[in-house]
Amino acid sequence: MNKAGELMIYADNAATTKLDEDAFEAMKTYLAIEYANVSQPYSFAKSAKSALKRSREVVAACIGAEPEEIYFTSGGTESDNWAIKSVLHLKNRNKHIVTSQIEHHAVLNACRSLEGFGVSTNFLPVDRDGELSPKTLEGALKKDAALVSVMLANNEIGTIEPIRELSGIAHEHKAVFHTDAVQAVGHVPINVKKLGVDMLSASAHKFNGMKGSGFLYVRNGIDIHPYLDGGAQERGQRAGTENIASIVAMATALRKNCDRMENTIVQLRNLENIFLSRLSQGRLDYVRNGSSNHLPGNINISIRGADGEMLLHRLDLKGICISTGSACDSVNTQVSHVIKAIQVPAPYAEGTIRITFGVDNTEKEAVAIAEAILHILESQ
Ligand code: PLP
Repeated sequence: MNKAGELMIYADNAATTKLDEDAFEAMKTYLAIEYANVSQPYSFAKSAKSALKRSREVVAACIGAEPEEIYFTSGGTESDNWAIKSVLHLKNRNKHIVTSQIEHHAVLNACRSLEGFGVSTNFLPVDRDGELSPKTLEGALKKDAALVSVMLANNEIGTIEPIRELSGIAHEHKAVFHTDAVQAVGHVPINVKKLGVDMLSASAHKFNGMKGSGFLYVRNGIDIHPYLDGGAQERGQRAGTENIASIVAMATALRKNCDRMENTIVQLRNLENIFLSRLSQGRLDYVRNGSSNHLPGNINISIRGADGEMLLHRLDLKGICISTGSACDSVNTQVSHVIKAIQVPAPYAEGTIRITFGVDNTEKEAVAIAEAILHILESQ
């Protein structure tokens, strides 16, 4: 139901997720009662200070990191920019970044903005499933690079990249490895040590935390420089008064998502199957995009001869929220850079839609979305 009490099915969880109720409860204290600035020395700040410490420990434990390797930020975009722009400070390396063509614009545009500062970039192609092959990366690293950045999971098609192999190759070539894990954290098991990553970006609103908060993991031993200059917060590396309420909410939501992850994955795979089996009862000619190793609950399909934008608006009239491409790109009605990069055939490309189920979605909703799509397209 929406605010007006009308039927609403929200199936755009890759764009953002609903704030978790426990996270909301936990953060209230730090908005209205324990609202002290954590940098202050008086006793009133003690509770907020220990909440910050606890939150850092919780977040670190959820990704297999050490607490001092977590830097709280304003979200995925800041974390990505910080990681990418750190290339300017990496010593004794060619100022060269290797990344993929299907990264989020927070990475792509951060790379492009560096081109005016003497940094060269290489945007590598992916295969039809959206996977960056280790061989392609190996070939690209014949030219000495300071930084490799490859996303853990794609926000449009859900493909999970072979990060462990890719980071291994980057390290053989002495490059620092960053991964944008904004879509993956809280949804699939992550251990930064096993993945072998040096930096990892995350965003709270993708895992039932608050919008405008996130973190950057930076492995001990990686020489990071402040991206935001100012006060001494975050051990002098990220200035700005800590958004303690959002940080507490993020830690609460992440802990909860990690604790129930196994069950959620089963639930979301089931919703995918239910949706697809109802859809296949119609006469639609469509292709499913992304690799079989994809984010739970992500369904990206391209329907021959359909208009994804039209479909989105017709579904909206029925109270159903889905997406055509990346939500951050919703003003842009062109075929997305990801759909182009995976070479979806032209008759299908413009009919691309993305359904992303979350923990609150039901089997009934999965069926209702498939039926609404069939109804709209078959009655045209
Ligand atoms: N990276 C990816 C893969 C994303 O999906 C997003 C948001 O959609 C971002 C980065 C940006 O994160 P934020 O919205 O927290 O700035």
